[in-house]
Formats: sequence, C-alpha cells, structure tokens
Amino acid sequence: MKKVHVFNAGPCLLPQVAIDNTIEALKDFSGTGMSVLCISHRTKEWDAVMDECRALWKELLHIPDTHEVVFLGGGASLQFLYVAMNFLEKKAAAAYLDTGVWASKALKEAKGIGDAYAIASSKDKNYTYIPKGFEIPADLDYLHITTNNTIYGTEIHEDLDVPCPLIADMSSDIMSRPVDVSKYDLIYGGAQKNVGPAGVIFAIVRKDALGRVSRYIPTMLDYRTHIDKLSMFNTPPVFAIFVMKETLKWLKSIGGVEAMYEINKKKAALLYDEIDRNSMFIGTAVKEDRSLMNVCFVMAPGKEALQDEFFAFAKERGMVGIKGHRSVGGFRASLYNACSIEDVQALVDCMKEFEALKK
Ligand SMILES: *Cc1c(COP(=O)(O)O)cnc(C)c1O
Repeated sequence: MKKVHVFNAGPCLLPQVAIDNTIEALKDFSGTGMSVLCISHRTKEWDAVMDECRALWKELLHIPDTHEVVFLGGGASLQFLYVAMNFLEKKAAAAYLDTGVWASKALKEAKGIGDAYAIASSKDKNYTYIPKGFEIPADLDYLHITTNNTIYGTEIHEDLDVPCPLIADMSSDIMSRPVDVSKYDLIYGGAQKNVGPAGVIFAIVRKDALGRVSRYIPTMLDYRTHIDKLSMFNTPPVFAIFVMKETLKWLKSIGGVEAMYEINKKKAALLYDEIDRNSMFIGTAVKEDRSLMNVCFVMAPGKEALQDEFFAFAKERGMVGIKGHRSVGGFRASLYNACSIEDVQALVDCMKEFEALKK
C-alpha cells in the first residue's frame, strides 16, 4: 500500500489495529460465522459490543454516575436540534458562544425552538480567537460552547466555570484531552473527528437535567428515550459503533486520554514551532487559543504565490488532507489521536525542505 500521511479534518485517520480488527469482524463477528454487517442487534453478542463500548467511554473519560452516554445517528448537526429540544425552555434563554461555523449552526437550530442568542462572537476577526471576559447570566437555561473549532483551529483548552448549565459540542476534541464531565449537562459530538468512523454520535448527558422543559419532545429527539433503552430504542448504527469500540480499545491500550493528551501536546508543539520558525508560513489562530487538533496556517506575506506549489510539493511527499477549509484558505493539518508524531515530523520535514528550496 502507498505510504501516506493523513491529516484529514474528518472523517479522520483511525488506528490501524482498529481497522484490522474491523476487517476480521467484517468476515466473522465474534465467532458467530457471520459478518458484523449482518448481525442482529438483538443478540447477546451485540449486547456485549454495546456494553464494552459504553464501559470504555465511562472509563476513559471518568464519566460519573450522574451522567449516561448514548450513541445515536443523525450526525452532530442533528444534535444541535436535540440540545434546544431537551434543554431550552421558551421563557428563559440560551446563550451561545459564537466561535465559528459549527457554533452558529447550533445557534440557528436553537433560535427555531426558543429564545437563543450569541453571548459573544469572534466573527469580527474571522474566528481566529476565542472571546473571553464576557458576562454570563446565572439564570440562563444553558451556555453552549464549541470546545474545538475544527475549521479555524481554535480551542477552549479548559473546562469553563460558569454560573449556569454548560453544554459543549466536542466533536473534534473529544478524547484528545482530559475533561471534567461533571461540569457539563451535556457533551456531544460526531464520532468521525476523533473516536470512530462517520455514522454515529455520542452524547454524554446529566440525567437529572432532563425533563425540565414543558414542550412535547418527539420520541426520537428525547435523550430519555435513548438512555432508558441503552441506545437501542431503534436499530443503532451497528457498524460505526463497532469501529468506535475498537478505536477506544486502542486508546485504552496506549494509556488512555491522559497519555494521549501528552502525545497530542507534543505533536501540536512540533508543528506550531515549525510554522513559527519557517519563513514561508504563518499561523492563523492567536497563539493562546491554538487548537491541538486542527493546525491552520497560510503562506507568509509575500509568499502567497507559492501556495499551489507547496500543495504539489507536499502531495508528492505523501501528505494528504492539508487543504484549509474554503472559508479560511491556506492549510489545515488535523492532528487527531490516530495521527502519529512520525506523521507530524514528515510534514515538518516537508516544510523545511520547501523553505530550503525556495529561499
Ligand atoms: C464536523 C463538526 C460538526 C458536524 O458534524 P456532522 O456529524 O457532520 O453533523 C459539528 N461540530 C463540530 C465542532 C464539527 O467539527
């Protein structure tokens, strides 16, 4: 197979052992003589997969008993609606921290349900920083944040202390760093950025925060339905859950989220140091808010004309998926969990070589 270094923003690179185990299960799932694609989800073999997957989530993120984790379809984009349906009461209000496209899409869905507004925004500078120091009213239904802004490469690095319930879209930094789950009423995201393939979302819900809104919540959009039925109210996305379970098994085997965080910090530092040193490139996000997961950079002033040449140069050396999102331009290298330090080193070497060639 061709040797490449994958920096795709999502769906992401997955650990090879998870892919290998999945290939086995595609042929023969758990010794059943059947492919995992054909297994009934109402079997003890499948129950074991669900139980293991749930247990891995709880263990790796230290999820307290006050919370439950569910796995559903529909993408993180449908969670934007779930959030408002389950937590937004019409008379009070929900505040959204507008840190990018995903945050504003989440806000749009909430506005369709009730009284929601942007409490602060970094749109004025094309979302290159995280707004800070804004007042948070204590009587909010909730504050919604997007902890990692996949498109702009900014990240909220700590769990915020806020006077109201806190809800976070962690699609692109879940399991990349330790999180104090007890501080959140809800953490949700799509699996395809860091913990699995496309097709499944995770939602970690504080159980006693549910049931407080007066509206009718459609059965499928009510977190209680899925908590009560352990994510099996209807047919779960079995294949995506299987691969997610294998991905989390790998994460546990390398020492869990805490060990992963140390590696992720090293990977990000390696690439950011090169961007800051290399005369060809500059980073786009302000330094203190730089994401450990999505590293965004552009050609340095005066070097813009070399952009296409660098794309071709990097492609030749096996770099995949380093094109920036169209709203930012330039380059984006996503350093999700399965991306290795060797992958990052290869990109850094490629940037060094390019500089030497063009200087
Ligand atoms: C990718 C992404 C989404 C959207 O996820 P889908 O599963 O495609 O709906 C939402 N939020 C963030 C932060 C993302 O990175």
